[in-house]
Amino acid sequence: MAPGHRPTAVPEVRPRVGVSSCLLGAPVRYNGGHSRSRFLTDELDHHVDWLPVCPEAEIGLGVPRPTLRLQRREERDRVVSSADGADHTEELAEVADHHLAQLRALDGYVLKNKSPSCGLLALPVFDDNGDRVDGRGRGAFARRLTELLPTLPVEEQGRLTDPVLRELFVQRVFAHARLRRLWESDWLPRDLVAFHTRHKLQLMSHSPEGYRETGRIVARTGSGDPDEVRATYTEAFHRVMAVRPSRGKHVNALQHAFGMLSPLLDDTRRHDLLAAIEDYRHERAPLSVPVALLRHHCAAEDVEWTRDQTYLRPYPDDLRLRHAVPV
Ligand code: SF4
Repeated sequence: MAPGHRPTAVPEVRPRVGVSSCLLGAPVRYNGGHSRSRFLTDELDHHVDWLPVCPEAEIGLGVPRPTLRLQRREERDRVVSSADGADHTEELAEVADHHLAQLRALDGYVLKNKSPSCGLLALPVFDDNGDRVDGRGRGAFARRLTELLPTLPVEEQGRLTDPVLRELFVQRVFAHARLRRLWESDWLPRDLVAFHTRHKLQLMSHSPEGYRETGRIVARTGSGDPDEVRATYTEAFHRVMAVRPSRGKHVNALQHAFGMLSPLLDDTRRHDLLAAIEDYRHERAPLSVPVALLRHHCAAEDVEWTRDQTYLRPYPDDLRLRHAVPV
């Protein structure tokens, strides 16, 4: 590394992530099998601490066991056994309540799709005759989890095969961990200002209006009730981070960073950086190209404001998630 070159100074965090146990390879499915996700066990595993939970095992259904399904009874979706029709809905939901203290310390949750316990989206719901009546069911454990922790980043394993959704989820998990670490410290108003400043470009890439909204909350931090500021900022920050970035918003964030760096660059480097941003704008290059160039120049010029932006390193580099996002 050349003299004066410094890596970006965004401190590392190690998120805690809840997960359906079968996704980590535990043989807890109804048939004694598992649903191991290689992304989780071979890649994300290096950077997070897991909280594996199998709701069906926890309520004592055993392995192997009869399958469960969602059944509509008196206009409510119930999780019932295919063997004897026994209703396990409340027990499965209570698993989330039982783990509440641990769940509150999490930064994200990955749920097994298509499970009447863990499934988050679009589960089939049947009537008493076995006919499908709806396709928008949610598993009993997943429903209670999302009721208890509405701002927690939660995603289904099946959707994580989409590179865009995967990248968004991992961004949200690491951002959640950084904010959790701030709240767990003896934070002062200036610490929240610093946190918000470091996340400026990242928030802008999700929603420029969301960045301004969260900024107005930060502006109250010196005079407002700290607990109210904390609760309001937490809700707004995670809501903004859940908005899917667009190419236009990325270009806006990249140009903002360019504006901070531009006075320090010579004509050649300024031209190369602008060209990389334009290549990304016109779908000739992935986002990782202008971001890599920005990181290089920020380190070389040692521009603290830009160098410390979480946008330039939202999660550990070796996850390489931006490389997989289609141009
Ligand atoms: S989907 Fe959920 S309940 Fe089913 S085996 Fe996996 S962890 Fe257990």
